[in-house]
Amino acid sequence: MIIKKANPCGFCSGVKGAITKVINLIEDPNIEKPLYILGYLVHNRFINDALKAKDIKIITEEDIFQIKKGTIVLTAHGTPNKTIDLIKSLNLNLVDATCPKVKHIHKQIEKYLEDNYQVLFLGVKNHPETNAIISNYNVSLITLDDLSFPKEKSKLVLISQSTLSYLDYQDVYKKLTALGHKIIEAETICNATYERQKAVIDAKDVDLVIVVGDPLSNNTKMLVLVAKKYNNINSIRIENIEDLNNYDLSKYKNILVTAGASTPSAIINEVFDILQTKFNQKPYKSLLKLEDYLKF
Ligand code: SF4
Repeated sequence: MIIKKANPCGFCSGVKGAITKVINLIEDPNIEKPLYILGYLVHNRFINDALKAKDIKIITEEDIFQIKKGTIVLTAHGTPNKTIDLIKSLNLNLVDATCPKVKHIHKQIEKYLEDNYQVLFLGVKNHPETNAIISNYNVSLITLDDLSFPKEKSKLVLISQSTLSYLDYQDVYKKLTALGHKIIEAETICNATYERQKAVIDAKDVDLVIVVGDPLSNNTKMLVLVAKKYNNINSIRIENIEDLNNYDLSKYKNILVTAGASTPSAIINEVFDILQTKFNQKPYKSLLKLEDYLKF
């Protein structure tokens, strides 16, 4: 059995930036405590557990009204402007950990709306990145499950959520142009997502892809999808090594391990190391500690 690790895989710059920002806030005596995060900083439950262990509270929008003092951190996925205005109106401290790649998408949308384009936003329904965008801007949401295209045929632009499959984006763009829509291609899938998917789509001589990541992580889901859809390889998602106790891997000869952009390096390395050195020693047990999940 050959076990390979995809390159790249795991943490992206946006996730590293968000974690670094929060760690710096924890350590900065000038930052008013307690620290709150409005939602999941990034989509990984181990990271969220590690942050909670550092006295950080994860809150929802409804909780904001109960807060009397402290600092609220906005997550990497972006936040609706009306929520930001609410926090400011309550005179609470605010720190923005939105990924610069997500901010770039907001800027692109603003630019096209100013030029009177109809913006079609290809995204995942109820994902926080999509929620912020459809709350802030007058865009038409289209999803891969519901490709309802507009009646207008011109002055259209197709913008995407940062973590979609780039081949799905191209597929939707081709469908729109085939229907006669004159549409600008403005794919805004981030580099980290693109590179992780490309490593899986280009993989050769692999009969199983193991994707390590959280069920809420969209780029993790996309890695599972693109392995099957665009490289015809069986793929499974696990959160950590212990999930592999449920699988019989003995029938596979070449396994590729990859991971979503919010999966801690420690989890990926543990999966890879155990598969390489203790493959036959089930049940697998994770020996990681909470602080390991925040390291990179
Ligand atoms: S996956 Fe892309 S958009 Fe999301 S945090 Fe990472 S770099 Fe930013």
